Amino acid sequence: MSLTNEAVIAATQSVIDGLDHWRSLPIKQQPPWLDQAAVAAASTKIASLPPLVFAGEVDTLRERLAVAASGKAFLLQGGDCAETFAGATADQIRNRVKTLLQMAVVLTYAAELPVIKMGRMAGQFAKPRSSDSETRGDVTLPAYRGDIVNGYEFTPESRAADPARMVQGYHTSASTLNLIRAFTQGGFADLREVHNWNKGFTSNPANARYEQLAREIDRAINFMTACGADFEALKRTEFFVSHEALLMDYERPMTRIDSRTGTPYNTSAHFVWIGERTRDLDGAHVDFLSRVRNPIGVKLGPTTSPDDVLQLIDKLDPHREPGRLTFITRMGAGKIRDALPALLEAVKSSDANPLWITDPMHGNGMTTPNGYKTRRFDDVLDEVQGFFEAHRAVGTYPGGMHVELTGDEVTECLGGSEMIDEETLATRYESLCDPRLNHSQSLELAFLVAEELKRR
Ligand code: PEP
Ligand code: MN
Repeated sequence: MSLTNEAVIAATQSVIDGLDHWRSLPIKQQPPWLDQAAVAAASTKIASLPPLVFAGEVDTLRERLAVAASGKAFLLQGGDCAETFAGATADQIRNRVKTLLQMAVVLTYAAELPVIKMGRMAGQFAKPRSSDSETRGDVTLPAYRGDIVNGYEFTPESRAADPARMVQGYHTSASTLNLIRAFTQGGFADLREVHNWNKGFTSNPANARYEQLAREIDRAINFMTACGADFEALKRTEFFVSHEALLMDYERPMTRIDSRTGTPYNTSAHFVWIGERTRDLDGAHVDFLSRVRNPIGVKLGPTTSPDDVLQLIDKLDPHREPGRLTFITRMGAGKIRDALPALLEAVKSSDANPLWITDPMHGNGMTTPNGYKTRRFDDVLDEVQGFFEAHRAVGTYPGGMHVELTGDEVTECLGGSEMIDEETLATRYESLCDPRLNHSQSLELAFLVAEELKRR
């Protein structure tokens, strides 16, 4: 008996040791912390705080994603490029949740498919940067790496990496997730509220089209109610949260051993992904995430080779577990039709079955002559279309979409039915990082994807 206990303890210790193996590997995109004792104190504090999500929820998500990978559901993942502490207000969280619920309804109704709803929310605070510093005039300061690391304000004090921000990141995630849970479990996400989700948004063609669809759904629900159907199940909706697992001094202490199974779960989110800049096969991020039970994503940019993809599969999903691995392709509208098919072919002829989703945002960035970082809505649509075309050609399943969006009527991306032009960008540009689709552009995108899904 005591031997068995010792064996269990030894096995658990070896799992824990494995969770720290990344510390000996090359690592990218970590903050230049100045005070290592303060980093250790923050990590210890975070390790003592309750998990934000539970292992059982994470397992449920993995099962849902397996259904999507098999072609019978669709993943909708969206939210800010970078959440901010100041932006974690009730109104902004509600508008983002409403926008995702509306998009999901459009997709479900048109494509007659279950839609898995997932926010880039409640933890999307750490940002990879293409340069470590930023220069304005003759002043050079460390780059902004997201509110969980440093401040956006361009002063030496604000730009210094502050470990205490990680603890604030935890608490901001907790309060955001609490509100999301209240909205999605407490009656607000009831399908009978489908009209109300559109309230408060300005009228435009996408909203009008949504109203029309909401009327049809209402009629169908009323008909079924009259027939005696019980709509209790419509009251609640599943909603998962996700972020890029970038900041290791936060992700590691949020990773805990599940007492039921003795296996590690990253309890900071249901789903975490590895970014385009940190997906090196022999790097820290890939090693660390290969050891957690959560379903995970990997971003794939236009330079990805078929061999990279096969090796990532071997490393991150050695057991070929359904729902474990999602590839998030972000090729750029001009490249996806050339770059994606070879990757799909290679995986199709292997024994793996990952979920493929499109991120039509990150390959389509540009800067306007008046200095705004933006994206053309038409490029976003074009990349989505290219994604569906590539899957149709190869005979694989286009299983979801990953977008940067907000529920507010910001003016950050060019085009859409309101025809936002370069001058208009200045009127309401709020993102501290990448430009997001606004509410009506998001709905418009959902209608387009619904059409593509119908003819897949
Ligand atoms: C992001 O999702 O905000 C991001 C930085 O993406 P990528 O890693 O694909 O560049
Ligand atoms: Mn981004």
